[in-house]
Amino acid sequence: MAKNFKNVDVATKSVWAGEEEYLVHGATQVPVMVSVAYGYDDMDEWYEVATYKKHGHIYGRNTNPTVQAFEDKVKILEGAEAATSFSTGMAAISNTLYTFLRPGDRIVSIKDTYGGTNKIFTEFLPQMGIEVVLCDTGEHEQIEAAVANGCKILYLETPTNPTVKITDIERMAAAGHAVGALVVVDNTFATPINQNPLQLGADLVLHSATKFLGGHADALGGVVCGAKDLVKKIYHYREINGATMDPWAAYLLLRGMKTLKLRVEQQEKNAKAIAEYLQTKDIVEAVYYPGLETHKHHDIAKKQMRGFGGMLSFAVKGGMDSVRVFLPKLQFANRAANLGAVETTYGPARTTSHVECTPEERAAVGIPEGLVRLSCGIEDANDLIADLEQAFAFLESNLEVTK
Ligand SMILES: *Cc1c(COP(=O)(O)O)cnc(C)c1O
Repeated sequence: MAKNFKNVDVATKSVWAGEEEYLVHGATQVPVMVSVAYGYDDMDEWYEVATYKKHGHIYGRNTNPTVQAFEDKVKILEGAEAATSFSTGMAAISNTLYTFLRPGDRIVSIKDTYGGTNKIFTEFLPQMGIEVVLCDTGEHEQIEAAVANGCKILYLETPTNPTVKITDIERMAAAGHAVGALVVVDNTFATPINQNPLQLGADLVLHSATKFLGGHADALGGVVCGAKDLVKKIYHYREINGATMDPWAAYLLLRGMKTLKLRVEQQEKNAKAIAEYLQTKDIVEAVYYPGLETHKHHDIAKKQMRGFGGMLSFAVKGGMDSVRVFLPKLQFANRAANLGAVETTYGPARTTSHVECTPEERAAVGIPEGLVRLSCGIEDANDLIADLEQAFAFLESNLEVTK
């Protein structure tokens, strides 16, 4: 019996959605289908499958059952008509942009997108004769004015990396649609647990599945969801250009997603407690978390998100010199260029999200040199706070760096 996911909570969807069609031999788990090719004795059936008239599989670069189960789960979590997947989040982003943009087109976005996305905007699209307009993140009137001059795509990311700035998706989608633009949102930080951009008016929502969706920092992947006709075009670009998700990665991501809501809720609980703790510390100069009332766009976050997520960032007095001292002192932390994992992960913007930028470029988007991005894991909040407390105490005993 086909399951009905109408009026069902995301927790239930995360566990059950997308899987039943792919279960075989009475198995309760989706198998990893490693077969590259699928054979047909009947030439007519082969032709029908190859021309998409009949459901089935031909070749692993095009489709794969394990990969499709992953796509179906995300599709249901995002409330979309269709989804297609990629080898990485960057492949999801680049393939989506290259599917729709042509020489002479114009794209409007914001300055604070993910580092790789920003490189596409500043390096690759201009080479192809595409005009890129990057607005100050969170400056809604500036974005509206840029969009009003016409554009093919309005590309947003909210919350952003690493200063968790917020953009009003509903308002920007209206501005984009007024000029016939496709509105694309990178939903990696919020996850479908906290935000569904399609319900707020976006045309396409995409994810780096490598982060929160997988949640265990052991598989790379990307996915884009939206209306069937749009996703079909992106799928076609991907099947030919070849940035296909591996079935082993699809399996790990599928398994990870079963606990998505549990993880995201705990990560958020930790983020909130840590953000409040950081605000009380003299050594901390600034804290960025959309759940804090002091956040510039707390109201917009409250309106469009069901929760504020597990990502925050903060700056300590003394900049990078201080970071060098206190960051290695943390016990329950990976210091790495990753986020969204069950382990708490710290990374200075200078060595992670904005490593390609000069200090001046970082300053221009409001990133202090000592800014540290914190991706909260699922550990206990008190343990994480105690860990920060001892690292800050060590830093304060080396006071010369904070003067
Ligand atoms: C990591 C990330 C990406 C890129 O994803 P990969 O899987 O590393 O290619 C894109 N957008 C955001 C917001 C990210 O955090």
